[in-house]
Amino acid sequence: MLRRSLPTIVRHARSLRPARVFSTKLERDIARSITATGPISFAKYMELCLQHPTEGYYAGKNTANTEIVGARGDFVTSPEISQHFGQLIAIWFLSLWQQYPTLPRLRVIELGPGRGTLVGDIVQTFRSIPRIRDKLAAVDLVETSATLADIQKATLTERMAGASDVPIRWWSTFDDVPQSEDFAVVIAHEFFDALPVHLIEKTASGWQEVLVGASPASRSGEDQYLVNSQNLVDSTRFRYVLSGPSLLANKLSTISPRYSTSNIPAGTRIEVSPRGYDLSKKIAQFISSNGEGKPSHGAALFVDYGDARFFSDSVRAFQKHKLVDVFHEPGQTDLTSNVDFALLREAVEGIATVHGLINQATFLGRMGLEMRLKQTLANTTNPADQTRMMKAAGRLVDMGPMGMGRQYQFMGLSTVAAGQEVYPFVQENAELRPAS
Ligand code: SAH
Repeated sequence: MLRRSLPTIVRHARSLRPARVFSTKLERDIARSITATGPISFAKYMELCLQHPTEGYYAGKNTANTEIVGARGDFVTSPEISQHFGQLIAIWFLSLWQQYPTLPRLRVIELGPGRGTLVGDIVQTFRSIPRIRDKLAAVDLVETSATLADIQKATLTERMAGASDVPIRWWSTFDDVPQSEDFAVVIAHEFFDALPVHLIEKTASGWQEVLVGASPASRSGEDQYLVNSQNLVDSTRFRYVLSGPSLLANKLSTISPRYSTSNIPAGTRIEVSPRGYDLSKKIAQFISSNGEGKPSHGAALFVDYGDARFFSDSVRAFQKHKLVDVFHEPGQTDLTSNVDFALLREAVEGIATVHGLINQATFLGRMGLEMRLKQTLANTTNPADQTRMMKAAGRLVDMGPMGMGRQYQFMGLSTVAAGQEVYPFVQENAELRPAS
């Protein structure tokens, strides 16, 4: 009698437990993986959230994400605001290209092209100049999102009409882009901020990595909200946990004295992107060699929010222009962090010449935004269009505390001789000295 009733009691007890509800399929998969094999690095979490082939943010599977970049999406980027942005960047690249008397052929490579607007503006500017028009050899786009690659294809087909002989190629990683003797123009705009960052923390017993573990609520299945160390409302599923000694921190101390323990007080947390470091180095090698041991020429431009220092708590998540918790609806939010440009600079030391850092207002202002705007206004008769154009240009160089002109930084790489100043990055190199 007793034996027969036991399963009934157990079943009843189970049904009293609230069902586990996951906000996304990805949240469920990550929670299961953590339960099975333990906490994961924040970099792994970020990578899964952004890059998972079907559930990641950039896969754009969900209707909310079909307009990731753009006015109706989760964020608006400079090239989407005004075509002057891409035009002035194109002119900067040409100013470097014409320093080489052989006037080699040009190729354009963009990492993370979004909707393809920036690369479209760059190639269109090149093609509008008669002596450049026939120099364009190829366009290579590094993109992991099939959804965005389709949008880029449509944009470029329109922008490159009449240039069917110029190949446009897509690659899922920069490693696959073939090197050549052509002058390489490499642009990474709002790309480095999307690369996964590790979180490391200096504790009394040295550097430890901050991992993502399952929260107690996730383990028990209870439905409650926790407050994490940053006083943000945490998800029920995940929380930060400290691991043992960090091997990454040991590696960092060989890269830069900025990470040496004696320079940093206990309790400091650092966001660091080894992927960003590796890519910066590869881009520098790419522009300075043809891949077969011969030198080559080129220039690169990295544009992002950040500074020439590391950040401690810049990782954040956006959904429909609103800041949300980093553990909110994994795969449905844009996870991003400020870029440590000093690290990108350290990566290319001795390989390419670094220019900058200067902010967006300085770069665009010195490259002639105002003159370009005046020309466009003179060719526009509709007053509403004129107002819109003026507002757009003003927004790009807004120097308010959170304005794009102040927040976005430009760092250039080129193959000109070390020490040679390149306009508009003049007398600003001192700014890149690592912050202590
Ligand atoms: N540069 C564009 C889009 C920025 S959004 C603009 O300024 O409008 C970030 C872009 O980088 C998207 O196209 C995204 O799919 C791509 N991306 C993010 N991480 C990537 C990675 N690891 N490899 C390749 N592309 C990536």
